[in-house]
Amino acid sequence: MSDSVSDDLVLVVNAGSSSLKYQVLNPATEAVIADGLAEQIGESSSRIRHDYRGNEVLVEGTLVDHNAAIAKVMELFEADGVDLAGSGLAAVGHRVVHGGRSFFAPTLIDATVRSEIERISPLAPLHNPANLVGIDAVSALLPDVPAVAVFDTAFFHDLPDAAATYALDAEVAKQYAIRRYGFHGTSHEYVSRKVAETLGRDYGDINQIVLHLGNGASMSAVAGGKAIDTTMGMTPLEGLVMGTRTGDIDAGIVFQLARVAGMSIDDIDVLFNKNSGLKGLCGENDFRAVLERVDAGDDSARLAYDVYLHRLRRYIGAYLIELGRVDVIVFTAGVGENASPVRADSLAGLENFGIEVDAERNAVRGKGPRVISTDTSAVTIMVVPTNEELAIARQAIEVVAATE
Ligand code: ADP
Repeated sequence: MSDSVSDDLVLVVNAGSSSLKYQVLNPATEAVIADGLAEQIGESSSRIRHDYRGNEVLVEGTLVDHNAAIAKVMELFEADGVDLAGSGLAAVGHRVVHGGRSFFAPTLIDATVRSEIERISPLAPLHNPANLVGIDAVSALLPDVPAVAVFDTAFFHDLPDAAATYALDAEVAKQYAIRRYGFHGTSHEYVSRKVAETLGRDYGDINQIVLHLGNGASMSAVAGGKAIDTTMGMTPLEGLVMGTRTGDIDAGIVFQLARVAGMSIDDIDVLFNKNSGLKGLCGENDFRAVLERVDAGDDSARLAYDVYLHRLRRYIGAYLIELGRVDVIVFTAGVGENASPVRADSLAGLENFGIEVDAERNAVRGKGPRVISTDTSAVTIMVVPTNEELAIARQAIEVVAATE
């Protein structure tokens, strides 16, 4: 065993349909030992970016499937002098997107848990099958390391019925488990807890609106540490405008596209999930590029930005009312952490609600949690970087410690 890897470390795995993101980190010290991303798995142009203790390597070639990707990652660790299989990792933490009604806490994966994740996969056909492939591939190579599933839906498991229920025929909804589950829960929980820690407040005492604005985007209303509403629904398609997803859309558009445009359900799925949102409106899903084009006076980018902001503000208004008293509004993820115009514009003109962004504080770039409201703002406005890998690693190690 190499002395550079020890039993304090957790391997975190986030397997997508054609990608695999990983990190090896120490949840106690927050030190990241290695991280990497395998992309375009299953295609001839696959590649892996692998960073071990600051030394980055790029590998290009063909990875036929996730098993091949993980085997290659193990080889890269070996080349670093690390035998991951024999190194005594404390745990593997797997991000699993959908926990359905079955899972509401991080769970040690055994055969029963694995088959339950598989059973609920039809709820998240784009995500859970890929997560399972990741679980199987890693456990084949690291059979002795306990594996823990951390669910994106868990934080929203106890949404009030009024927020979680669609106004559908109740029997149909029950039969097909159709309800609002919410996603990005690991991030919403991590960030809202970090807010309390940063402000030195009791998590149970504060009400927060959390805006997770990345390529995927969602907002939540968190009252005293409990999520009472969130913008994503049965799938991650609902709610905010995203990089490539529509967010909220009139379901009648599905009927129209099927009947009039002759599109298949799969065509519409791809249209709504992959070719809509900012990309559909202006051809660009990278928010930096959208902002550059807005600054350059581009009309379609301007409209995309305005639609994005309109949706954000609509939900901010809704959550102000749902929470009644809001102590903190917090921005996170790629756009939330970096795009100061989005933060300023989404909260502009809300002084009557006690919401005042400080222009100078908002413009400052930083890596850590920070306050961007004025000293007179009744609501504290913050930027808090999310760290889903750290949150998954911590939860994985807690589960393993509890079962020992
Ligand atoms: P995900 O994890 O959902 O893929 P991220 O949280 O990494 O997404 O966020 C990606 C988004 O953040 C992209 O749209 C990217 O353009 C945007 N982003 C990153 N840096 C900046 C920046 N400096 N200004 C504006 N947007 C940014």
